[in-house]
Amino acid sequence: MSVAATGNGVSRTASLSDPGPENKVLLRANPSSNDPPPTDRGNPGPLWYSFDLAPKRVESGGWTHQVTQRELPSSTDLAGVNMRLTAGSFRELHWHKANEWAIMLSGQARVSLLQADGKMFIDDVGAGDLWYFPAGLPHSIQGLGDDGCEFLLVFDQGDFSEDDTFLVSEFLAYTSPEMVKKNTGWSRESIDKLPKKELYIFDATPPASLADDRRFLGEHLETKNRYTFRMAAMQPTISSPGGDARVVDSTNFPISSSIAAAMVTIKPGAMREMHWHPNAAEWQYWIKGKGRMTVVTTGATARTVDFHANDVGYVPSMAGHCIENTGSEDLVFLEMFKSPRFEDISLNEWIARMPDAMAQAHLKLPISVVRHAPQTKLALLAK
Ligand code: MN
Ligand code: MN
Repeated sequence: MSVAATGNGVSRTASLSDPGPENKVLLRANPSSNDPPPTDRGNPGPLWYSFDLAPKRVESGGWTHQVTQRELPSSTDLAGVNMRLTAGSFRELHWHKANEWAIMLSGQARVSLLQADGKMFIDDVGAGDLWYFPAGLPHSIQGLGDDGCEFLLVFDQGDFSEDDTFLVSEFLAYTSPEMVKKNTGWSRESIDKLPKKELYIFDATPPASLADDRRFLGEHLETKNRYTFRMAAMQPTISSPGGDARVVDSTNFPISSSIAAAMVTIKPGAMREMHWHPNAAEWQYWIKGKGRMTVVTTGATARTVDFHANDVGYVPSMAGHCIENTGSEDLVFLEMFKSPRFEDISLNEWIARMPDAMAQAHLKLPISVVRHAPQTKLALLAK
């Protein structure tokens, strides 16, 4: 039987059949790409990448890899770096042009930052804690405890590269020894012993106690500005049967003037409601569980994509989207924005505010049905 060019008798199963080669691992992980809902249309551009596809730079003391605009070209606002430091190991003292937001994913670290007024901030962070380091201010990260740490860095430049940072080793190595001598008073013999190239990630001895380091700083310890924030320990901003969300932006973490974040937990079967953000594109980091997201953008373009832990998601600025937990455990992910404030618009809330005639004219439904929908922004909808 010929099934070509009929357009009306071939079952979806037959149409989806795939007699050629298949990457079965990717196919199984991405059912929504392989068998998209019939409402998907066209291609809104890249919405997904994974740190598990990115090249990993492994050094003595840890590793790093990044998902930037080079991997996910649509993400021009934000870029991410995922890094591991073993106990005692450092990410070398450095600074850079982008602002840095970070969340500890596992373990503990000591972070420090020097302000332009000569005062130094120093603190220890654990899983679920954040830090925010403004561009240009030099800082350090050192793994603590028995197993060091792993963290996610988010930069407010999509084309940021972790290879494009100013390093203390390079400043010294590439300044003429005569000038280094004049600057420091160190002998030429000592200067010749300085690192000849970047250290970047390197192992070292675990530090003294935080109290000792603070005592060393004395009057030079920064105590007014807070560059760290206990995100996991805060009360949820929203709590509902479908899950909860913790929002951290410049209103409760004032130093974070350019990056806003929400840590969202969605219960199995529940969903993050249909919504959009009026002020920025959304960059996501998936921490735990699995789910699928539908993004609907202009020109009747829509796509549904599956996500797993360690994936990065992207939603074009102002595009409508919703996320469903398709797994059997809690789904936890971060919504990140290059903005001082977290803002979202709820489709349900908008419909609820529409006068009856306006709502009916658009939805073509009896008003009793229209008003059956939630009459407020719920953010998270239970199963
Ligand atoms: Mn940095
Ligand atoms: Mn969102």
